[in-house]
Amino acid sequence: RAKHEGRNTYRLYRPEMDIQAQDSLALETQLRDMLEDGSGLVMHYQPLFSRHSGCLCSAEALVRWEHPVRGLISPGEFIPLAERSGLILPLGNRVLECVIDDMKRWQQQGLTPVPIAINLSAAQFWQTGFAAGVRQKLQDAGLSPRLIIFELTESILLDRHAQGLAVLQSLSDSGFRISLDDFGTGYSSLSYLQNIPAYSLKIDRSFITALDSQTRSSRAIIAAIASLARELGLTVVAEGVETRRQWDELGRYAIDLVQGFYAARPVPAESFIDWLHAPRFAPA
Ligand code: C2E
Ligand code: MG
Ligand code: MG
Ligand code: MG
Repeated sequence: RAKHEGRNTYRLYRPEMDIQAQDSLALETQLRDMLEDGSGLVMHYQPLFSRHSGCLCSAEALVRWEHPVRGLISPGEFIPLAERSGLILPLGNRVLECVIDDMKRWQQQGLTPVPIAINLSAAQFWQTGFAAGVRQKLQDAGLSPRLIIFELTESILLDRHAQGLAVLQSLSDSGFRISLDDFGTGYSSLSYLQNIPAYSLKIDRSFITALDSQTRSSRAIIAAIASLARELGLTVVAEGVETRRQWDELGRYAIDLVQGFYAARPVPAESFIDWLHAPRFAPA
């Protein structure tokens, strides 16, 4: 970047910046190496339960990086790095392969599969032939595209709305389902929900957290988003539900599914099997 700023640009020397820059450069190199065989990637799965019945309805795949020195690194730290450094496509492919492997194994073990939600970055979404590629991978594994839900945020669709709708349509025509993640935090207008071929909408955790502060505004927002989404035929998800109180209160709104630490944390594939064996959550 310094190159573009021209030769005579004067910049303050900040030692901590160098450390950060060096650090993220090292991390980028390690990420690139790790992605060669993908052996350091670990998928965790977090259940989504019906608010009404407590039944396990689906799960979200959340990637982690098992770093030899730093331990488990969260996606919040390395996804942005992967996006900046052009590694998000190979990373995304590794994630898809891991999830498909896990689903195939569960099926071979005779477990009833639940749909798995996979988060997409913009570069994956806009990649030519993405839907067809994933479809092929699933077909090779003997899995139906109905078992995959793609989660994406409004920001992906923001500047190229018409083209975005076309991509969404092709994903949907391929049999995949679409979930709008972190809903309510972006800048798009509610009217864009009208034409979108989406299956579900996830109300952002910040609104759920705000329930605790006794403000009326977060309740009004949750109520409005939930009832509008349901009217439009979308499955409504509340994300980041951490307490019994939040769980109980959400019963008052048109919430279909609940995801959060209160009911279940994200867990490795081996532990997620326990949920497939006993696919139900009951508030204590
Ligand atoms: P997200 O898609 O909004 O995922 C939900 C995040 O909230 C996860 O964080 C999850 O562990 C966390 N969470 C779930 N329930 C609770 C709760 O009750 N309380 C709190 N405080 N947090 C909760 P995680 O796993 O660190 O992932 C962070 C973000 O990284 C995700 O946000 C998603 O945007 C991105 N991400 C994760 N996996 C992938 C991936 O495979 N590909 C891409 N492109 N992005 C991913
Ligand atoms: Mg998500
Ligand atoms: Mg989310
Ligand atoms: Mg979120």
